[in-house]
Amino acid sequence: MQPADRRTTLPPYRIKVVEPIPFLTADERRAALADAGYNPFNLRADQITIDLLSDSGTGATSTLQEAAAALGDESYAGARSWFRFRDEIRDLTGYPHVLPVHQGRAGERILFGDLLKPGQISISNTHFDTTHANVVLAGAQAVNLPCAAATDLDDDAPFKGDIDLDALERTLTGPDGHRVGVVLMTITNNGLGAQPVSMANLTAVRDLCRRFDVPFFLDAARFAENAWLVSQREEAYRDKTPREIARAAFDLADGCVISLKKDGLSAIGGVIGLRDEARYAACEANLIATEGFSTYGGLAGHDLERLAQGVREVLEPAYLRSRAASTARLARLLADAGVATVAPAGIHALYLNAGRLLPHLAPHQFPGHALGCQLFLDGGIRCAELGSLYLGGLDDAHQLVTPAPFELVRLAIPRRVYTDAHLEYVAEVLADIAKDPQRVGGYRIVSAPPLLRHFKVRLAPA
Ligand SMILES: *Cc1c(COP(=O)(O)O)cnc(C)c1O
Repeated sequence: MQPADRRTTLPPYRIKVVEPIPFLTADERRAALADAGYNPFNLRADQITIDLLSDSGTGATSTLQEAAAALGDESYAGARSWFRFRDEIRDLTGYPHVLPVHQGRAGERILFGDLLKPGQISISNTHFDTTHANVVLAGAQAVNLPCAAATDLDDDAPFKGDIDLDALERTLTGPDGHRVGVVLMTITNNGLGAQPVSMANLTAVRDLCRRFDVPFFLDAARFAENAWLVSQREEAYRDKTPREIARAAFDLADGCVISLKKDGLSAIGGVIGLRDEARYAACEANLIATEGFSTYGGLAGHDLERLAQGVREVLEPAYLRSRAASTARLARLLADAGVATVAPAGIHALYLNAGRLLPHLAPHQFPGHALGCQLFLDGGIRCAELGSLYLGGLDDAHQLVTPAPFELVRLAIPRRVYTDAHLEYVAEVLADIAKDPQRVGGYRIVSAPPLLRHFKVRLAPA
């Protein structure tokens, strides 16, 4: 570790309030995992030492956020906290119309309810899973057109979150072109390795959408992290601040939906931003009927206050630099230990290539899941499988018939929660597994629900 490296990962804050984390014995963890049906989603949070299941709503808030929360105005309509939130979102995005929602998926449901008609198509670099579900619930079809580099896990290309522009143009000019109801760019591309999207790609998408008169929206859960990676990787934006870059991205689109549980630095919240007045009126009516009045949208005044402050703090360069450096450092520690991750390292998560680490396990033995279980058994670490258990096709007897293209495990990094010491611990536990991978055994499915399998599936050691 070079001193310069240490200065980059140094967080621009110190810790004021702490929460104890549990340390179970290996026997206790073995019993806990068996009780959970070998599904980490069934574990109790107080059985987990380091929780890398999700970066959603799991971040730490700041003194300024909590001070603002104490001033939260809980008036039913027209609360002071609403105006503060609305003005921050307007200032960030430039969209005149702002609708608060309790989390991202509520925003998706309301937006797609207006944007998409049955039989239409939503095109994306990759739809996030709830986004995909809400497109389908609107009676439409979700089509993913990721760029070619995205499917090469070792390719170091800087913007593997980009959409395939040729494929997009082919779709827009082809027989299904008239059915395209929206192009939705996910920044960063959470469904495909946390990879960023370049401003060049967003600009080209905007141009195509204008040419074919198709609405262009952003799914901007990680607007700040995407902006940071653009500032580091895209020459034309080197001298711009993350705030300027985020704004430039919003400027290109007709509107956005944002889960503020990520770059809102808060436990709950979301927002829809719109330019179009008629669309705003339609979405507002739905919002009032299903989420709450349009000045709170299912959120408390204190939530709106934390969010207004959070979207400001998240764009601070010192914070983004340290967070990006910390994830990149974990990726280097893992590479040194012989554990491959999807390249290049993003910010909110690292994706372990379990297929490569555990070649003795076939896809039907769920190597990603096996690695996730071993991380819990050895170190009390929880993470999410993104391989054949999550994405593969099963027959009626729960046998794997179509494996996923890759066997990945996602280590999601909550914001401002774990220090480099915690991440070093994670690297050490993984390094020990990498020294003797043969000891990691496979799993078989005991029972699985027909829908959203990964949440409720139960397994046993094979
Ligand atoms: C988390 C997420 C969502 C859904 O947001 P929720 O707040 O979890 O409902 C949508 N899109 C992306 C890219 C996300 O990461």
